[in-house]
Amino acid sequence: KYNIASKHKILFYSRDMGIEIEQNFTMINYLKKAIENNELYINYQPIIQINNNQIVGAESLLRWKNSKLGNVSPDKFIPIAENTGLIYSIGEWVIENICKKINEWKKKGLKLIPISVNISVKQLEYIRFTEFVRKTLDYYNIEPKYIEFEITESVSAGNIDKIAKTVKELSEIGIKISMDDFGTGYSSLSLLKKLFINKLKIDKVFIDYIESNLDYKKDYNKLLKTIINMAKNFNLKVVAEGIETRNQLELLKVLGCDFRQGYLFSKPLDVDSFEIWVDKNSKYKY
Ligand code: C2E
Ligand code: MG
Ligand code: MG
Ligand code: MG
Repeated sequence: KYNIASKHKILFYSRDMGIEIEQNFTMINYLKKAIENNELYINYQPIIQINNNQIVGAESLLRWKNSKLGNVSPDKFIPIAENTGLIYSIGEWVIENICKKINEWKKKGLKLIPISVNISVKQLEYIRFTEFVRKTLDYYNIEPKYIEFEITESVSAGNIDKIAKTVKELSEIGIKISMDDFGTGYSSLSLLKKLFINKLKIDKVFIDYIESNLDYKKDYNKLLKTIINMAKNFNLKVVAEGIETRNQLELLKVLGCDFRQGYLFSKPLDVDSFEIWVDKNSKYKY
């Protein structure tokens, strides 16, 4: 069964552990140099309001292309970055680059939309994280409403007091926080409150079940409905991730889901395609 934590354990189930460990070691060494070698870049995936098809934002998704390893999925290198501490510099690189981009878009006179950034637990535990964010926003002259952060339920396994403190500081600046991959980990209503969450991103596993013929389909659809109703009762906005079919979209519309993100509408785009896309779409939508 799908489980976020299992992603990080795959290594230990390998038949040839020697090779896995060696590859991992090689990857760490390459990853250490990824920033200075200009191997990182960011893709953007549009987020759309379901009832009127307006673009309301985009999620930034980190990409790594290494000359020896080729394209490495973030599902693979982000956990390694987290375990080695490289996530601090990589995470700062992401935020800095997004702010730089937003500043460019502003100068070009493009319509600005909020960009969501995935943030790791370790970054939130770092006591000077907010200070870094504030300085970067100031430097690039960006209003906090144009940056949003996505955190996952794995925060519940972190130092929750440190994390809550950071998140409080961030929300005081005016940065909105979403709970990503919602429904797959451990979270509670009190955690959502404690972390100033104002948006839930329902994990793709629930969206996948809509189209499946698997045993638990009915239960999953009930869970989906319950999550959306619960969110509404607590004034949380709901984003559905990984929508690939019309059928999924129709059900989510009926259930009252607010926003959508997924291949049905658009894959994550490289920055140039994204700019063109926003420019074209904002003409009609605003
Ligand atoms: P996530 O934040 O849950 O991002 C959503 C993932 O679903 C992305 O995978 C996206 O490309 C993919 N996706 C979106 N729509 C569809 C769809 O319709 N079908 C399918 N099959 N997939 C879809 P991606 O880009 O491979 O990123 C994987 C994960 O890596 C992210 O999951 C996030 O947890 C992490 N990640 C990515 N960028 C960063 C980053 O800058 N910092 C940190 N800490 N983590 C990141
Ligand atoms: Mg995300
Ligand atoms: Mg997600
Ligand atoms: Mg994810």
